[in-house]
Amino acid sequence: MNLVGIDRETLEQFFVERGEKKFRAQQVLQWLYQRGVTNINEMTDLSKSLRELLQNNTEITFPVIESEQVSADGTIKWLLSVGQDSDGKTNAIEAVYIPESNRGTLCISSQVGCALDCTFCATARQGFNRNLTAAEIIGQVWVADQRLRSLYSGKQMLTNVVFMGMGEPLLNFKNVLPVVNLLLDDFAYGMGKRKVTVSTSGVVPKIDELSQAVDVSLAISLHAPTNEVRNELVPINRKYPIEQLLAACQRYLDSKNRKESVTFEYVMLDGVNDSEKQAQQLVNLLKGIRAKINLIPFNAFDQSGYRRSNQQAIDKFSQVLMQNNIVVITRRPRGEDIAAACGQLAGQVVDRAHRGNHCMRMYERSLISRKIETECI
Ligand code: SAH
Repeated sequence: MNLVGIDRETLEQFFVERGEKKFRAQQVLQWLYQRGVTNINEMTDLSKSLRELLQNNTEITFPVIESEQVSADGTIKWLLSVGQDSDGKTNAIEAVYIPESNRGTLCISSQVGCALDCTFCATARQGFNRNLTAAEIIGQVWVADQRLRSLYSGKQMLTNVVFMGMGEPLLNFKNVLPVVNLLLDDFAYGMGKRKVTVSTSGVVPKIDELSQAVDVSLAISLHAPTNEVRNELVPINRKYPIEQLLAACQRYLDSKNRKESVTFEYVMLDGVNDSEKQAQQLVNLLKGIRAKINLIPFNAFDQSGYRRSNQQAIDKFSQVLMQNNIVVITRRPRGEDIAAACGQLAGQVVDRAHRGNHCMRMYERSLISRKIETECI
């Protein structure tokens, strides 16, 4: 059993079943996630016999960093391997750290590949391979946290986590839930509920399950104001059309008396979903729902078949929303030079030498520009 990825309740059960005190779970979580200790022998407030029990029955394993790329804007992308397929191919995923002046956000993956086939997303092109385990998901946070500590000696912190990397988190709900619990747990990462965001393309029944299970921020990949356009861009819309999706959002807000809003992500695709008329349709659609809109200028990838909306169209679109009192944030593309922006995550271990060289160059440049001394990767 991997100790990584087990939330407090389950770990408490593990200890109680073995005649140990419940609070041992808190101690183990603190060692693992707050102090970054991976050697059970160093968990000195556990008795010798308990340490032996853990050593004989558990392991502590994390995803392994295959490469690290640092963008000119400070964004860091890690390619992490999570074991091999039966045919010997390495499974790899990506996690991206996005520093801003007042926070540091880690964007994590929940699946290897994705089954949803959104037409404008690079991850979709590789198809679905498998769900990540809870250890592999929280492991991304652990690895990033440790790297940031060693790179920046605690000056660049990880304050927020978004499930906006590869995969559809609500189609891996069983493993995403303990991870969310660990992110929120004061004995693990202790993040506030507004600092953890689960993003979904609209798996309606699972939105209700999430709502009952935990209190986190919800983001919806909406991308279109009508079923006609959304059916094309986000095929799961054919199963759960916009009306059902918005009704689920409303239930989410109503349950547990939530005060915050739902964030709607909207990728700006030239000539597809970016007209003034569509902005107005979006306003009408969201009437009555506490909503924030995140406009994401489309990030290109090879043979995507789409173009990013021009700045004028984005400005106009956001103006219409703002005039109707909707909070709009236009996401600044980050880490484009290392293909780390939204929708560019592909996570393949390809062309390693080339990536490695590029990575090293970027890495050195960023260290020089920020005069940070650290060990070499
Ligand atoms: N499957 C989940 C989690 C992925 S989140 C979801 O769909 O919400 C990744 C976000 O980036 C989603 O809003 C996705 O629609 C958006 N995205 C995907 N490809 C993109 C691209 N090429 N440019 C900009 N945003 C993109």
